[in-house]
Amino acid sequence: MVSRFSRSMRNLACAAALLGASLMPAAAQEGPKLYVFSSGALTGFPKAALQMGGVGNIDWAPVSFYVIKHPKGNVIFDTGNNDKTITDPEGWWGPLAKGFGLKMTKDDAMAVQLAKIGMKTDDIKYVVAGHMHLDHGGNVSQFPKSTLVVQNDEMKAAWWPDIGYSIYYIPGDFADTKKMDVMRLSGDIDLFGDGTFRIFRAPGHTPGTQFAVVKLPKTGSVILTSDVVYLKESLDKNLIPPIPGTWSPSASYESYARMRHVRDTENAQIFYGHDPEIFKTTKKAPEFYD
Ligand SMILES: [Zn+2]
Repeated sequence: MVSRFSRSMRNLACAAALLGASLMPAAAQEGPKLYVFSSGALTGFPKAALQMGGVGNIDWAPVSFYVIKHPKGNVIFDTGNNDKTITDPEGWWGPLAKGFGLKMTKDDAMAVQLAKIGMKTDDIKYVVAGHMHLDHGGNVSQFPKSTLVVQNDEMKAAWWPDIGYSIYYIPGDFADTKKMDVMRLSGDIDLFGDGTFRIFRAPGHTPGTQFAVVKLPKTGSVILTSDVVYLKESLDKNLIPPIPGTWSPSASYESYARMRHVRDTENAQIFYGHDPEIFKTTKKAPEFYD
């Protein structure tokens, strides 16, 4: 009796497993993957531009962006420097190109970077802009079929900046966003409703800066900072950038605290906006985090 009972239970479990597998669509069985990309670098510029009281120069700092392959649609977080800076850095960035030692090569072009994982711009469903500064919103116009996900007041700040804060916004970068679908946020959102890609409003650097938290099955939580914070040292020591890299000091400190809270409660890794050391140790596309 015992053996027949256990055999039938085993058969039942087997049938349930098969049924479960057949009910699950193939795509849903594959969890999200996070890819790290390069959009060139900033070289030989004063550390004080990124951190108040910073001493000396930063020799090299990455300009990064990220793609999340998700069963319900792919996401790009930030879009790097406009591809036009590959051939005409000063024409597009003006004096900032020399000031920040902008270096962008043909290999850093959006299409070339996405091709590393077999994607094209049209394969991206959501373009999430950490903010609209020139090294993050540079290529948003290359995604006319995607939905731009951005804080409402960030778009207002980009189009009509406060006095003294226009320098890092280039209207040509985002002129075509008027033709795009735009999801205007005034707060946080769980983009897919499954906790895998959450956006946190975190103003301070700009009026509508936001960071993302990607939850991966093996890696756990990863925070993508955009420029809510530039460097690991800045978050650890509570150091903010000077004007115009800080729009509101008090909001910046609150956003630092918010990010630390997520970091500590979820034991999250942080991929920083421009931290040279952290970027060097991250896997780059086509390698990925899952
Ligand atoms: Zn930046």
